[in-house]
Amino acid sequence: MPIRKLPTLLINQIAAGEVIERPASVVKELVENALDAGATRVDVHVEDGGRQLIRISDNGGGIAPDELPLAIAPHATSKLQVVEQLAAIETLGFRGEALASIASVSRMRITSRHSSISEHGEVIVADAGSVIEASGDQVSDIAPTACAPGTVIEVRDLFFNTPARRRFMRPAPTEVGHISDMITRIAMVHHGVGFTMRHGERKTIDVPPDQNRRQRCVDLLGRELEDGLMEFEDVHHEQVDDGAAQPQPIRLWGLAGLPAIARATSKFQYVCLNGRTIKDRGVAHAIKEAYRGLIPPDRQPVAVVYIDMDPAMVDVNVHPTKAEVRFRNPSRIHGIVLSALRQRLLGSDLTPSVGISTLNPDDQPTPSVNIESTNDFVDYFKNMPTTQKGFVFEQVKQALAEEDPNAIASDDQPLLTQTPTQTSQILQVHKSYLVTQDQHGIVIIDQHALHERVMFEELRQRVLGDGDSEKKLESQRLLMPAVVGSTSKRNALLEPLRGLLERIGVEAEPIGPDTIGVQAFPTFLFDRKVDPVDFMEELLDRVDEGSIDVSSDTALEAALHEVLDMMACKAAVKAGDQMSDGELAALLEKRQEIERASNCPHGRPTTVRLSIKDLEKQFGR
Ligand code: ADP
Ligand code: MG
Repeated sequence: MPIRKLPTLLINQIAAGEVIERPASVVKELVENALDAGATRVDVHVEDGGRQLIRISDNGGGIAPDELPLAIAPHATSKLQVVEQLAAIETLGFRGEALASIASVSRMRITSRHSSISEHGEVIVADAGSVIEASGDQVSDIAPTACAPGTVIEVRDLFFNTPARRRFMRPAPTEVGHISDMITRIAMVHHGVGFTMRHGERKTIDVPPDQNRRQRCVDLLGRELEDGLMEFEDVHHEQVDDGAAQPQPIRLWGLAGLPAIARATSKFQYVCLNGRTIKDRGVAHAIKEAYRGLIPPDRQPVAVVYIDMDPAMVDVNVHPTKAEVRFRNPSRIHGIVLSALRQRLLGSDLTPSVGISTLNPDDQPTPSVNIESTNDFVDYFKNMPTTQKGFVFEQVKQALAEEDPNAIASDDQPLLTQTPTQTSQILQVHKSYLVTQDQHGIVIIDQHALHERVMFEELRQRVLGDGDSEKKLESQRLLMPAVVGSTSKRNALLEPLRGLLERIGVEAEPIGPDTIGVQAFPTFLFDRKVDPVDFMEELLDRVDEGSIDVSSDTALEAALHEVLDMMACKAAVKAGDQMSDGELAALLEKRQEIERASNCPHGRPTTVRLSIKDLEKQFGR
């Protein structure tokens, strides 16, 4: 085939393929242009998820009439004159291809009224605006029009001439979700600019101009989360080798959500770097890691992290839409974010308040589950939303207050009328919950969850302690090996587990094609009456299903963590176990000593609190 030069339209469409993936990418490019033009208000209106119409209006500096055709010409930009500027990009766009690309795959109209600055620094607003239309490779003449200062860009029938792309668009709600998310990400880093977004008649975003970072984050995350957000800040002064210019310090600022407001997805996590919201796996990992043990592994923390650092220490031009960056020293950034968050979390009282003040017991739906035994209740309780827990405690509290002698119940009687057992300083309620007090109010502890955390910390100390990898748990030989039923597949799991078993003091060998014999078992578990067969069965099952992964050395630490966790869970008192006064006192004392006592190793809370403030409100005092 002869070599031919590609037609301009095709070049533009190819370029569009790179940056214009879906309606949200159009919104991104146009909103960033508005910001580059100095806008303090940006309004986004979309119809039918952006297929039919995307309209972005701004109050920025506008485009002079004679420059309108240039604005939509490929590789035309007012933002980059010198190559060196590439090294320290200040403006958001600079490739000069967004408008050309969008016009090549839609019907675009630009209406703009230009403002300029005179020699004396006065703003001169043009008397009228002008309008230009472009679609595919067609460009209209420029026509004068009346309009407000600033620019309105309308994009209709996106991808009308690229059917493959058009088919690729998702239903309107999905596209609207992407657009909202995009605007949120931009609004996070432009707290001085007001943004609105409307889909049809529905306003989905509305944040005013002139906010500070905190106000902006709270507005975007949702005001209802405000009480659950803790501010953190950190500065690191960087040292480089002698002779080189010293980089600016790395500054962190952010909001860390309490474990209690963690979400099912990472939608409420934002990482902002030097005025841009980015996606970075390293930082995301640091965030997740900071919450390890404070939230269940399948939950995602709410967190916003702003990183401001020397632009020379990070490359933003590794991704066509600049959504990803490359840090010069990624592990340093990881460490800084992790330690800032961790410090904030460990230094805080993470006990969630059950917030009864907002509850009117009569408004609460009655539990639709059939609670007949302690275990039913415990299961039910664990899955209950925090606000409902408040209601339940309210009833327990009433039962306490009334000290109704008829409320004394056997195990089969409805739970909430049972009278709690009184001990010296603490009540054990239904052999599952411990009720005590601190200076803030009434503290309610899930005995199993707290004991599990205490056991876990003890085990961790013994096995990992000061990072000495040779540490082992003390173990005890069995008079007769405990016999675990096996298969050849199961037997094969033992080999990769060997190192780990040794660390925890378990000796186990296949003693036949379908049996494994456990010859030694950790004293710790013995003392807590954990059955070796039971323990090995669960361990092998979990290795088999992959939730404990011993397939590589790198996974080993996580696997050890999991196994210690499993041991702690098995060794801990269960819901329904009666605890002696001595045991209760010891447990409470440990609660004061250990780190992260607020959550069990799976991240579930061990403790909730009814604050005195809530109680006073509730009693109308
Ligand atoms: P880039 O933003 O990379 O320069 P674009 O194709 O997005 O390239 O825009 C081309 C030019 O059009 C910009 O450099 C700018 O001069 C002008 N422009 C685009 N949008 C606006 C706007 N909303 N307000 C003022 N000028 C704009
Ligand atoms: Mg641009």
